[in-house]
Amino acid sequence: QKNSNGKYTVSLIEGDGIGTEISKAVKDIYHAAKVPIDWEVVDVTPTLVNGKTTIPDSAIESINRNKVALKGPLATPIGKGHVSMNLTLRRTFNLFANVRPCKSVVGYKTPYENVDTLLIRENTEGEYSGIEHTVVPGVVQSIKLITREASERVIRYAYEYALSRGMKKVLVVHKASIMKVSDGLFLEVARELAKEYPSIDLSVELIDNTCLRMVQDPALYRDVVMVMPNLYGDILSDLASGLIGGLGLTPSGNMGDEVSIFEAVHGSAPDIAGKGLANPTALLLSSVMMLRHMGLNDNATNIEQAVFGTIASGPENRTKDLKGTATTSHFAEQIIKRLK
Ligand code: ATP
Ligand code: MG
Repeated sequence: QKNSNGKYTVSLIEGDGIGTEISKAVKDIYHAAKVPIDWEVVDVTPTLVNGKTTIPDSAIESINRNKVALKGPLATPIGKGHVSMNLTLRRTFNLFANVRPCKSVVGYKTPYENVDTLLIRENTEGEYSGIEHTVVPGVVQSIKLITREASERVIRYAYEYALSRGMKKVLVVHKASIMKVSDGLFLEVARELAKEYPSIDLSVELIDNTCLRMVQDPALYRDVVMVMPNLYGDILSDLASGLIGGLGLTPSGNMGDEVSIFEAVHGSAPDIAGKGLANPTALLLSSVMMLRHMGLNDNATNIEQAVFGTIASGPENRTKDLKGTATTSHFAEQIIKRLK
């Protein structure tokens, strides 16, 4: 839906730590690329209401109105009662599927070539249910919650993702050998849904096995849509990031029925915040996913090619995490020079 300026309004959460630096890079590059987007900057500083973490109503209204948001990393405030802000957002907007692509960057060599993985992480429950308590001192319990409903919607999303992109394989990553009931339900749902998608080949693999095989030969996972419970997705996507050059490179999309929020996989990186060292690539590529989701494919390709061209142009134009010497702003300027 275009606004009265003939542009799309998108909510922008700049984020904490390196968030301000990498969001500035995105805004500068979008301005230079003449992307038809007006950013609506929203503040999501959390408040405690009746002991529960909530985000301001104005932020919720903005995101519900615009349907699409780009989000920098948020740190969770330390203190009693606060649950992760990222979780709060995912729950508030029912963002049930987290899509995490990971593709070798041509022009940045790592020991692995031709990595091209696509992982979909269940985003609302599992080990992140937040149900933990002390039974008696020294004995604690943490509940991994798996429901048929949440499993079905994320697995269905994976099948639909594969169908819409002409991919023929869905792989469920699990540990049902040990968690027979919980991961067992996740597998059961995948097998039931397989009947509705006869053109897609379903396979299943134990998470430890996937880790082993992926570092031995990531090419085994090309053209496969992987789908898995929450914590496995968290860990396996960092592993995949490591294969291509680290967290500075990997984007993601949190997808719901109504709203989607695009964000880098990495956190607020407090260790390098404010020093001009942050790599904005992950947030930029998240924004490229967002542009494609919005149908702005030409803008997406323009920015993506300028980013990869800059990374390939040499260490003087790359940030430190990619063995380069460039600051965040120098890197952004180089990208702007390469825009069409
Ligand atoms: P949070 O608590 O917000 O998750 P964290 O301490 O876990 O923060 P991450 O942001 O997850 O930190 O980052 C892990 C490591 O990767 C840190 O050493 C960080 O400096 C580095 N890193 C993360 N993102 C980037 C980036 N965009 N550019 C450069 N280095 C990064
Ligand atoms: Mg982290």
